Amino acid sequence: MSVGAPAAGRAALARRARVRVEGTVQGVGFRPYVYRLAGRQGLAGFVLNDPRGVLIEVEGSTSAVEEFLARLGPEAPPLAAIERVLTEEREPHGDSGFAILDSPRGGAPDAPVTPDSATCPDCLRELLDPGDRRYRYPFINCTNCGPRFTIVRGIPYDRPFTTMASFTMCARCRAEYEDPADRRFHAQPNACAQCGPSVSLLRADGERVPVGPAGDVVRAAAEALCDGRIVAVKGIGGFHLACRADDEAAVAALRARKHREDRPFAVMVATAQAAGGLVRLGELERALLCGPERPIVLAPRLPYAAVAPSVAPGAQELGVMLPYSPLHHLLLADLGVDTTLVMTSANVSDEPIAFRDEDAKARLRDIADLLLVHDRPIQTRTDDSVVRVVDAPTGPRRLVVRRSRGYVPAGLPLPDPAERPILACGAELKNTFCLARGTRAWVSHHIGDLENYETLCAYTEGIEHFKRLFEVEPEVVVHDLHPEYLSSKYAADCDTEWLVGVQHHHAHLAACLAEHGEQGSGVGAIFDGTGYGLDGTVWGGELLLGDLAGFRRVGRLLPVRLPGGARAIREPWRMACAWLAAAEEAEAEHEAEHEDCEHETKIPLALRGRVEERAWRQVAQLARTGLQSPVTTSVGRLFDAVGALCGLRARVNYEGQAAVELEAACDPAERGHYPISLSHDGELFTIDPRETIRALSTDVEAGVALGAVASRFHAALSAATVEALVCVASSEGCDLVVLSGGVFQNRRLLEAVMAGLHAAGLRAITPERLPVGDGGISYGQAAVAARLMASPPGRGEPTA
Ligand SMILES: [Zn+2]
Ligand SMILES: [Zn+2]
Repeated sequence: MSVGAPAAGRAALARRARVRVEGTVQGVGFRPYVYRLAGRQGLAGFVLNDPRGVLIEVEGSTSAVEEFLARLGPEAPPLAAIERVLTEEREPHGDSGFAILDSPRGGAPDAPVTPDSATCPDCLRELLDPGDRRYRYPFINCTNCGPRFTIVRGIPYDRPFTTMASFTMCARCRAEYEDPADRRFHAQPNACAQCGPSVSLLRADGERVPVGPAGDVVRAAAEALCDGRIVAVKGIGGFHLACRADDEAAVAALRARKHREDRPFAVMVATAQAAGGLVRLGELERALLCGPERPIVLAPRLPYAAVAPSVAPGAQELGVMLPYSPLHHLLLADLGVDTTLVMTSANVSDEPIAFRDEDAKARLRDIADLLLVHDRPIQTRTDDSVVRVVDAPTGPRRLVVRRSRGYVPAGLPLPDPAERPILACGAELKNTFCLARGTRAWVSHHIGDLENYETLCAYTEGIEHFKRLFEVEPEVVVHDLHPEYLSSKYAADCDTEWLVGVQHHHAHLAACLAEHGEQGSGVGAIFDGTGYGLDGTVWGGELLLGDLAGFRRVGRLLPVRLPGGARAIREPWRMACAWLAAAEEAEAEHEAEHEDCEHETKIPLALRGRVEERAWRQVAQLARTGLQSPVTTSVGRLFDAVGALCGLRARVNYEGQAAVELEAACDPAERGHYPISLSHDGELFTIDPRETIRALSTDVEAGVALGAVASRFHAALSAATVEALVCVASSEGCDLVVLSGGVFQNRRLLEAVMAGLHAAGLRAITPERLPVGDGGISYGQAAVAARLMASPPGRGEPTA
């Protein structure tokens, strides 16, 4: 394809510049933008996409070229993210006319596919304009918005390689698509009611509800929602289950039908103003909420927020998002701007979100009363992204809980160029994988917990899909050290000579360093639930000193037994028992007269009647003997133990539930803290909370308010963490601290530690573009492998 523009007169003082633009500049309307900008300046030349981004040559009067260069960045299309502009002078050719040229063949693409983007203001205006030909058309989109990643089947990113392939554009849509001056020039999903996908409303048994044209289908769904029904809504990356958030009967029914589901539901509201009536929003939160990525923003819930109790029981925060597809906009417009909708992933307990029509019909039959579906297939299941904002002493900071729809597959830079293409397989829970080539890394969408067949399929298919999209044929495969992780087994089965194992917490440390472009060392406090340690025990409360190439363990949480192994994750009372046993043992050692006396750990008051006496005794025995009970330094499990000791949870339905509820229970006015000790044995620092456990148990037995107990525990742990980090940093002469790992999703802990480090004059970095939890591991693995290739270690194990 080659599109000509009016000829530019050749000025006396001609200048020709070659301009290379790097970043997210493909598939975002950049070439037609350049075409229009050059036309306005009367410039000749060309623009094209190539593997490095966009290449432009412009020729004309010196002042016109200057003007063009000055405007190029500031006026770029909304979805473009320019990382670098390189300009070179060229000999003027005497060209006339400006053209959009075809891409040269060969070379691997850098940014062939961009993330899905929320409906833009122009499309939204047309959607709600009765005079527009796409009035109430639920699939309206343009170059500045619409689905991308979720509809792509292959490359080049062109209509035949998307799930829009079966829809043939009508003459009017085709004319828009081919006109460089049009907002829909090369908008691959471009469609209208005459030629594009359509919606329909189904009953739970799959029978179509008879309604008229598209608009009426949405209206009928809105009416059903208004009446308190549960409607499954097919979105961009999968199905949601929706119901009115102010209708307790509807929300409770949804919770009951989803089975054992305790996780808070996210809600969708029409505007940022409506969101401000539910949660407290700062400037950054508002910007995230309104951005084209449209994540779920977790923010402190306002006391008068009009949502039913079952929406987010026991949570201080509420997850809020704005409509991001035209279908959402229509639903909320029909329901009224003040309506709050529950919009939760359509799945049953731990299964992945439903995204294929037939599958959704089968799985959601017993949950939804109606299904609002459409015939534009979703190629890749992509969950909603989840973010929150934390207050750092230097200002508000983004914290990513889940990075998926809206952010994926945008590339991230790697500090060291990967000499050979890399596949990093990630961890087990909240898995993502990462492909890397040169200085670019592409982290996958949130895959989920690699524990069932369906998730494993999503994982293996996802890897193949990314390999095709980014034309990466991995030669180096990186994996976690845990031999039983399905991701490690996948790596072992790969046909490669270059297999690199990276320790779990080192990957967390490396991911954060690499994301911030840090080349040197940092001291990391990496706190999470589980990670395979170099000594074969379960790590999860680690103080590491290291860089991308390697690390040294300089401290950790006091190791205790994990009674019954993985069962202890679902049954926090087991960890309560293990920590009580450890605390009592310490006390007995302390008091010499008790030396030979057999201690028996008794069920604490808060757990009495919730745990069987016999089971408790058995677990106390396991905790002492270590039978079937590996040793762990996990801070996540310490939180579980404290949550159980406070009587919050004897058993949980998802990992970290007790910790989430413990944080929510904190009394912000409480200023006290429990004792905690920090010791050093010449090699390692040990954060020892046994005194903390004893003191808080005494408080709970004495009936001290839960809010005070929870706050004092958080204060003790953050104080010990700060003290340990300050000691390591000063003895190692390092002023950079990394805070990462899933436990740091805890806002209270993270903010207290950051404040303490700041007061001590240390610089603390946290992951901001990638998840703080295990979703960030794959990128860290890739960064380590790239560094090892760039400067192989002289001797010893690469990452040990
Ligand atoms: Zn648009
Ligand atoms: Zn059309």
